[in-house]
Amino acid sequence: MSAAARAAELEHWSALIEGLLDPVWLVDGVSLRIEAANTAAGNLLGVDAWAMRGRAAADLSATAEDIVFWSEVAAGLTDAILSDTVVRRFDGAIVPVTRRVSRIGSDPMLVVTLRDLRVQRATEEELESRVAELRATLESSDDGILVTNLAGAISNFNRRFATLWGLPEELLAQRDDKAVQDWMRRSVVTEGSEGDDYTRRLTAIQNAALLQTTDVLTLHSGKVLERVTLPQCSRGQPIGRVFSFRDISEKLAATQRIEELSHTDTLTGLPNRRLLADRVEFALAMSQRNGLPFALMVLNLDRFKNVNDTLGVGMGDRVLLEVAERIKSCLRNVDTVARLGGDEFVLLVHQADAAGAETTARRVLEAMARPFTVDGQNFTLTCSIGVALCPGDGDGMDELMRRADAAMHRVKQAGRASFRFHEANADVAQRSHMQIDHAMRQALVSGLFRLHYQPQIDLKTGAVVGAEALIRWRDPVLGEVSPNEFIPVAEASGFIIAIGDWVLAQAVKQGATWRANGLQMPVSINVSALQFRQPDFVERVACELKAANLPPQLLELELTESILIHDAQDALHRLQALAELGVLLSIDDFGTGYSSLGYLKRFPIDRLKIDRSFVSHLPGDPGDVAIVNAIIQLGHAMNLRVIAEGVETEPQRQFLLDAGCDEFQGFLYAPALDSQSFESRVGVAPAVKNPVRLIKK
Ligand code: C2E
Ligand code: MG
Ligand code: MG
Repeated sequence: MSAAARAAELEHWSALIEGLLDPVWLVDGVSLRIEAANTAAGNLLGVDAWAMRGRAAADLSATAEDIVFWSEVAAGLTDAILSDTVVRRFDGAIVPVTRRVSRIGSDPMLVVTLRDLRVQRATEEELESRVAELRATLESSDDGILVTNLAGAISNFNRRFATLWGLPEELLAQRDDKAVQDWMRRSVVTEGSEGDDYTRRLTAIQNAALLQTTDVLTLHSGKVLERVTLPQCSRGQPIGRVFSFRDISEKLAATQRIEELSHTDTLTGLPNRRLLADRVEFALAMSQRNGLPFALMVLNLDRFKNVNDTLGVGMGDRVLLEVAERIKSCLRNVDTVARLGGDEFVLLVHQADAAGAETTARRVLEAMARPFTVDGQNFTLTCSIGVALCPGDGDGMDELMRRADAAMHRVKQAGRASFRFHEANADVAQRSHMQIDHAMRQALVSGLFRLHYQPQIDLKTGAVVGAEALIRWRDPVLGEVSPNEFIPVAEASGFIIAIGDWVLAQAVKQGATWRANGLQMPVSINVSALQFRQPDFVERVACELKAANLPPQLLELELTESILIHDAQDALHRLQALAELGVLLSIDDFGTGYSSLGYLKRFPIDRLKIDRSFVSHLPGDPGDVAIVNAIIQLGHAMNLRVIAEGVETEPQRQFLLDAGCDEFQGFLYAPALDSQSFESRVGVAPAVKNPVRLIKK
């Protein structure tokens, strides 16, 4: 071809390639130098297109493949190539491209056409990292995930999915969708015939391509799975479905447990107030419809605080469990015993009139009277029961409870260990602890507390040989409040220490006044556990005696068995210090606590006070007869004097005298009297001027 023709042809091709979007340049088939390049080529390589002219085609090669290619072209071995490669820009940067070289024309010319792959590569990389991210997310999910297409074929799942459904490895390796779907169907427990329900629900889900669904599946493995399904869409069109499975077995179990707990008492497993309320409501409805009577009984343990104080709360809990068992054993299956907390139980006895309720109450009292043995410790525990009957005493749970509770409190005031029915006129408003606590503090400041003195009589001589100081409180708002009601509140709040100090000072002063008037009357005071445990207790006693100038043997401290059991070593030191001081020591309510012979031997005790509950059924009750005889013999064997409390009748006194008991106190002779009445009752007779007492030394 002539040079002119060649130039014309080149011009023709140059115009043509300039019109193309992709970078293109033309290479002379002989010199292998660039003869023309379009603007797109200049842009890609970062240079003016005309500046490329005259450069060796191989200069733009950035890979071995291109270098080899151009050398082979030079050798006449090849003249075409198509592959993905890279080119080097004039600024040195590498650009990924698809490159095609082909031959055109008779006077050979090679056309180099490139496609810039930068955007595509970036998109691919982006896509790859997205996929990796998604996979990681999928695997890190606590939910099992399965993705299917619209036809149900599996397109993806995570390991968690396989674990939740217990899919065997070989099944996973097979990638057999049908086998997986079958496995899932067989794993589900369904209500209808096996698997049918599951298949039906699955078909419904698949058919509702755009719906989001949630349901729950129970597997034979015991797992409960929540299944949430979402449509998988692409450009607004559903292309498949994502199933996510969440293991809710534990959550469900926890919910069931919470539901159960909200109806039962955690310690004993007995129904709690909520469940009791449901059952009482049912009983009320039955009673209204069929006239069936029922009884609601409030049961409270007597002096349970002692158990916790001395044996510890853990042991207290075990005692409560035993109490719960004993109460249950007294009831029929249809009846309910609920625990409201602490040592408070409520019994719902169906189809019970007054006689039926009484039988049950007596049965419970008897069951409780059997000695308790917990961890080698033997002790007795009594309870007080208040009974309300329906119909008659109320037509709602609250009213019945309030009345049974009030009746129970009257049992406590009357000396515990018994039961009482609601009495219409005795329905005194129940005072709250907070109300009592507040009023009590006021009472001390305003001087509303008084001490009354109950005479203690020598059974053989009939002489008054002592006086037990008992606190009295008449409140302007609350009326007469029994110590059985406010002492426990004061013990719980710690206010008992202030009260105890007041009682000590007051009783010592009274003893001194009597002595000054020629009446040598030993005064006993009741000492609470908390008060006894005060580090300066012994010192305070000594101070008061000194201040009033009262001989120590005219003061007696009544302690409960719980005081002696609790921290026995410390108690022993304190008792020894008190004994050295010369005051007398007695054990109050003997027989209701732990009655351990060990401490009787070790501690410097002077006197045992037989609890009222053993005296009240004398002489008819053979059990009480045996107990009282045993206490008297025990006391005497230990060289202690024995006094019986709560003696109300002549036969009781006679029995005690015959049994060899030393002293008694009780309504038979006199209740607690104010100091003046005490003086006029006792008189200043020679017999009482110098009361004779065997003081154990
Ligand atoms: P306690 O020390 O066992 O006192 C005997 C209780 O029995 C007194 O009740 C007394 O009034 C009552 N009582 C006496 N004889 C008879 C009787 O023949 N029949 C009946 N049914 N009861 C009789 P009170 O005064 O209600 O005191 C109850 C409890 O309150 C006392 O039991 C004692 O534990 C406590 N308490 C009373 N005063 C004080 C006190 O000043 N300090 C402390 N810490 N506790 C006190
Ligand atoms: Mg007492
Ligand atoms: Mg007592």
